[in-house]
Amino acid sequence: MEKKSVKDVWIIGGGVIGLACAHYLSDAGIQVGVMDRGNVGQGASHGNCGLLYFSDILPLCSPGAVGDELKRFIKGTSPLYIKPDLDVKKYVWLLNFAKKCNATHQKEAAKNKYDILMYSMELSKTLLSSTSLNCDFEDVGTLKVFAEEKTFLDHARTQNFLSGFGLQAEKIEANRLAELEPALLDGLAGAWLNKADWHLRPDLLMASWHKWLKKKGVVFHENCAVEDLRIANNRIEAVHTNRGTFQADEVILAAGAWTPRITQKLGLGLPVIPGKGYSITMERPGLCPTYPCMLYEKNMVVTPWQSAYRLGGTMEFSGYSDSLNPKRLVKLLQGAKAYMKEPIGTPLIEEWSGLRPMTYDDMPLIDRVGRLKNMIVATGHGMLGVTLAAATGKAVCDMILGRPTEIDMTPYSSKRFA
Ligand SMILES: Cc1cc2nc3c(=O)[nH]c(=O)nc-3n(C[C@H](O)[C@H](O)[C@H](O)COP(=O)(O)OP(=O)(O)OC[C@H]3O[C@@H](n4cnc5c(N)ncnc54)[C@H](O)[C@@H]3O)c2cc1C
Repeated sequence: MEKKSVKDVWIIGGGVIGLACAHYLSDAGIQVGVMDRGNVGQGASHGNCGLLYFSDILPLCSPGAVGDELKRFIKGTSPLYIKPDLDVKKYVWLLNFAKKCNATHQKEAAKNKYDILMYSMELSKTLLSSTSLNCDFEDVGTLKVFAEEKTFLDHARTQNFLSGFGLQAEKIEANRLAELEPALLDGLAGAWLNKADWHLRPDLLMASWHKWLKKKGVVFHENCAVEDLRIANNRIEAVHTNRGTFQADEVILAAGAWTPRITQKLGLGLPVIPGKGYSITMERPGLCPTYPCMLYEKNMVVTPWQSAYRLGGTMEFSGYSDSLNPKRLVKLLQGAKAYMKEPIGTPLIEEWSGLRPMTYDDMPLIDRVGRLKNMIVATGHGMLGVTLAAATGKAVCDMILGRPTEIDMTPYSSKRFA
């Protein structure tokens, strides 16, 4: 592999992925600039649930996923909503997703997700301990909570699968649940405690990381929207924005769910679509959980921090709108009421929606695309952008410098969509 002499890099997108790339490149002595069409950290990286969910090796597209979701849709308990419209790209994506719901893909994706998740865990450990990022970080684990006996018992199969990777959780029977997590209602079926997982408050992480990188000399251009890219000799020669034209040795495209809108201008289609999620942030309730709780049957998360408390979840395939559907917010509140003694904290801090960048095989896309020699795309992190940020940032940095990456990046390459 040829080592490269790179002096400067522009990163398009100031989300958690853009900042992670900026972090490792700046550490390697490269002059880095980040441009964002809004403010840094205001995309999906702002109001998410903040889990560093390292045990989440199973892809969303698993055998039976489509049928299970259809049943929940009919019962009115599905967190999924697909807006009926004429968006052909969305339907092609959904069809490809359905095709991936098989045991072969599940096995292969779990192995590949495991590799990048464990790599990210190792890097995040160093990152969070050596960098003074003030983000309410805790490594107590996550609690997957079940209201129904049947789903609780069925989940043992998933735990068996995880045990093959050394990631199995501890089974918490109903009679021990109240002692372990007094904030949960009595009468729930049980839970699984996974100590491999951590959590942090993402908006604090983004603010703190932004400040840290600025101090290290990373240049930020906010309210700077990329409008076009000029190509010559298979290279990005210029980045045109509403704030002028920029040039650099290398460009990283980390614009989250909006990334395909930019590659589209280059005639490159990417199978990434926005998956909208919602969250409600409040002050901590009097009886606040100690553990982040995944409320299994409602497919949502309750995250407690020293400084706040958040309910988050839902998956809407409804395009790029950032409107807040009140029905989705009510569902989050109702979901929390079914599991928590004190589901609501006051006052309310924020109601929010964000767009996850979703690939149909539930794996990130971290690669050069098309024939472009000086651009790397880093997106498609779906439900795991915060968790995979460190691994993505370090791998992108190595790719840019022409160093061998520390894990095999083939599974996350753009060739899989060719
Ligand atoms: C409800 C919810 C809960 C979640 N919970 C978790 C969790 O617990 N753990 C986890 O790991 N992940 C979670 N996620 C997923 C995670 O939030 C995303 O995967 C991650 O934030 C994606 O980061 P990103 O940097 O790719 O995108 P973003 O944070 O969206 O950043 C992209 C940036 O690009 C900018 N941009 C777009 N277009 C342009 C342009 N033309 N010019 C310049 N800039 C542009 C945007 O303004 C934005 O700031 C959750 C997501 C949601 C919605």
